[in-house]
Order: sequence, then structure tokens, then C-alpha cells
Amino acid sequence: MICLVLSGSTIEENISQFKRNREYVDLVEFRIDLLDESSRGLASKFPDMVDLPVILTCRRQSDGGKYVGSEKSRGALLESCLDGNFAYVDIEDDIKRSAAELKARERKIRIIRSRHDFTGMPSDIFHRISKIAAKGDIPKMAVTPQSVLDLITLFRVKTELADVGEKIVLGMGDFGFPSRILYKRVGSMLTYCADTPVAPGQISAQKMKELYRADTVDDRTHIFGVIGNPVLHSFSPEIQNPGFKGINFNAIYVPFHVDSVRSFFILAEMIKISGVSVTVPHKQNVLPYLGKITREVKQIGSCNTVVRAKNLWMGTNTDYYGFVDPLLVDIDNKTIQSALVVGAGGAARSVVWALRNHGCKVTIVNRNVDRARSLALETMAAFDSLDNAKHYEHVDLIVQTTSVGMIPDSESDPIPDFNFTKDQTVYELVYRPKYTKMLDRARKSGCKLLFGIDMLIRQGKLQFESFTGYHYPKRLEQTLHLEED
Ligand code: NAP
Repeated sequence: MICLVLSGSTIEENISQFKRNREYVDLVEFRIDLLDESSRGLASKFPDMVDLPVILTCRRQSDGGKYVGSEKSRGALLESCLDGNFAYVDIEDDIKRSAAELKARERKIRIIRSRHDFTGMPSDIFHRISKIAAKGDIPKMAVTPQSVLDLITLFRVKTELADVGEKIVLGMGDFGFPSRILYKRVGSMLTYCADTPVAPGQISAQKMKELYRADTVDDRTHIFGVIGNPVLHSFSPEIQNPGFKGINFNAIYVPFHVDSVRSFFILAEMIKISGVSVTVPHKQNVLPYLGKITREVKQIGSCNTVVRAKNLWMGTNTDYYGFVDPLLVDIDNKTIQSALVVGAGGAARSVVWALRNHGCKVTIVNRNVDRARSLALETMAAFDSLDNAKHYEHVDLIVQTTSVGMIPDSESDPIPDFNFTKDQTVYELVYRPKYTKMLDRARKSGCKLLFGIDMLIRQGKLQFESFTGYHYPKRLEQTLHLEED
């Protein structure tokens, strides 16, 4: 079930949040701690105003809520609201024998016994769940995994506590995010969503239902994802999930915030992940875990796509082809023969190798000249310091591979003194914003522009082919865009 947390301060606001999300959710949590004092008097009537089951919750501040009164007044408020037709009431697991509990039992309102941990995970999480379930209540553990190993513990809940039918288990924060999407694989009866997040990692109900289709996950669903650190900003779920839906492939694509690649591969075996995209800083870190790699991965020393191939992991690099594809015609007809590559990081490695493999003369300029030198030696390119970029204004192609200009640094330009001329091609790898400051200057000079977002989509489509064996659905391609900046 997808549960919408209503975060309005008035009944009217909550009703409008409910109406906006009605088609995406199966039940709602009515948070009376977030209500204005004046609206609380009407709270018991709320379940009759909506046509879905309602959880009644009055969260205290220590559990992430906004209720500021005494425990006595909180208990009294909950008890009075329980005159209403609520399906569930959430009572924290340390509250013993309250009047609210007695009234809920009397009125056959199911009790959710919750525990919140915003800094870690209780070491006895399995025991706590079993103990609450033994009393006939629904255990709820909202915890904060601090590593992939903690996330593994959450995913073990499903098998270790298979006999506990009704339970709510979720991981908050970056590490916990996959447990919100894959809630069924964690063994949780529901996942929480909100228009305005009231806990770390919450997303909108529309995204949960339409992008992730989290409620359709079953035992046969193939799990894919992207691993990185940070990773939750990744655009890749917006490419892969609609593609899976477009070809009716029972699969889901989830971002995994990964501290240790080793732990991630343990998780991948445990929950049978079928493949992942790999982003910063793990493109090199995954190499020791791969049983098979392509020529490009070997040459570049960097892998951005991992797929399960029988009993081993296979690594490919789709950045390489995603980058070079739109240049091939101009390289073939010799319009592009020389290039200036700005940057010498991970992305630059794919770029320089691709250009060198196609016979382009390349000069690498980088802030850290040693890094430029070492990539240049490997690839038989030339190198110089970033400050000398201006000396290379005669080249046919300029490729910008640094993170300079990327949101929130969108006012910066890595080569502010470089003068573009109209017969040059300028390729920007940064994709947020679409038009960086540097690209805007190149546009004004009449250059041919190539965008980071288009490269991202091209490499994502190639990953989709590795994951599914099918081409990316053509009709979806035009929907793949970021908001214009
Ligand atoms: P990376 O390995 O961390 O390399 C970062 C590069 O940026 C290095 O050359 C670094 O220079 C340079 N840099 C960072 N801050 C700088 C500053 N203030 N001034 C000058 N240079 C600076 O990162 P990456 O993986 O190569 O990614 C770089 C960018 O490419 C990111 O914005 C990423 O989103 C983008 N990218 C896009 C795609 C796509 O499909 N469109 C694919 C891959 C990457 P130093 O060596 O001197 O530190």
C-alpha cells in the first residue's frame, strides 16, 4: 500500500492534498500534531471526509513530530480523536497502557506500534518487531541506516520475520531510500509518501506510483539501480523506469547510496539485483568485482554499467559510446580533427580515449596538471594547465568535462577567457543546467552545440539495452528532457 502523509495545518489543506493524490494512494496518515490548535477540534470527523482508510497520528517532537504539549495532553487529544472512524492509530512503542490504547482496542481500531530512530538502527530490530506482533499490534520501525550493511539488515526482515504478516519497516535518509521504494521486498505492508516531506527520504505519491510503480513489485520483478555517493539526485530512474514500463518489462530501477562497493555486491546477491548503472565515485571501485569486462572498460579503467551474466558480473562503459556517437560523422569527414578536452577526471578518461581511438589530436587542460599529464601519457595526447586553455583556440572541438558550471555553481565558467569561433563544435558534459555559462557563450559565437543531457540520455538508452536486451522505446525519447533552464 502507498500511504500519503497529510502535512496540512488545516482540515481544508489536508482535504486538498488528499484530492490531489487520491489516484496514487491506498490510505492516508492524518498527522494531528501538524494541525493548527483550532483545527484539532474537528479531527475526529476527518475519516468521514475521505474515502480511504486513515491512520491517526500525533507525533511528539522527539520522534520528528510537531506536538509541543505535555504527554498527558497528547494522550488526551489522541483519545478524544479516537471517537472518529479511523482504521489505525499510531502509538509509540514506549507508551504503555494508555487510555488511547484502551479506547482503540474497544473500538477495534488497529494499533501501529512505532519506533523512530533518526540516527541509526536498534540492534535488536528483529526482536522488537516480533515482540510487538506477538501482542497483535502492527510493528512499525522507521530507522536510519548508516551504511549499505545496515540496509542489508532491513532487507533481511522479510525472510527472517516471514511469519509476521503485518509490519511497517522503512529506512530513512540516503542509505534507507531503496527500502522505501522496494518496501515489498523489505516485507513492509506500506510505504509513506508526502507532498511536503515530513521525514528524510520521502518522495511524492505520484513519483512512487507512476515513476517507480512500487506497488506493482512482486517476487518476479527484476531489480536494477544506480549506485553512487551521492546518488539521490540521479536522473537515471527517469530514463530507465518509463522504459521498462514502455516494453512491459517487470522491472524497477532504484538509486542506491553506496559507501562500500563490497557491501553493495553482497546486497546485490541477496536481493538478486540484475544490473546497475555506476556513477561517481564508484566507476573504478567496481572493477575488482567484475568477472568480464569490455575492451573500453579495460582501456579506460572505468565502468558505468554492470549486468548479471549467469554467475558473474559483466562491466561495460556506455559513457564512451554515449559521448562519441554524435561526433562520428564529423570525425569521418575530417571536420573534427583536433580537440581541447577541459578536465582530466573520470568523464574525461572516456572522452579522451574515444577521441584518440578515432584518430583525433587531443590536448587535455586541467586545474591539476599532474592529472592531465598522466591521462595524456596513457592516451598519447598533449596536456597543459587549465590557465593556458586560451592557447588552443584553433581546435575543431572543445569538450568540457569538469563539474564547473553545474548547479548550484551555474555562474562559473571553467575557461572564461577562451574565445569561440563559429565553425567550432562545443560539447558540454554538465547536464544541469542544459545551457551552462560556457555553452551560452559558445551559442552566442555561433558554434555547433552538443549537450550533456543528450549524452546522458544516449548512454542511458545503451544501458537499457544491456539491462533488457531491447531497444529503448522510440516513442518515449521525446519525453526524456529536463526542465529548460
Ligand atoms: P571527477 O572525476 O570528479 O572530475 C572532476 C573534474 O572537474 C576534474 O578534472 C577536476 O579538476 C575538475 N574540477 C572540479 N572542480 C573544479 C574547479 N573548481 N575548477 C577547475 N576544475 C575543476 O568527475 P567526473 O566524473 O569526471 O564528472 C565531471 C562532470 O561531468 C560532472 O559534472 C558530471 O555530471 C559530468 N558527466 C556527465 C555525463 C553525461 O552523460 N552528460 C557523464 C559523466 C559525467 P582537478 O583534477 O584539478 O580536481
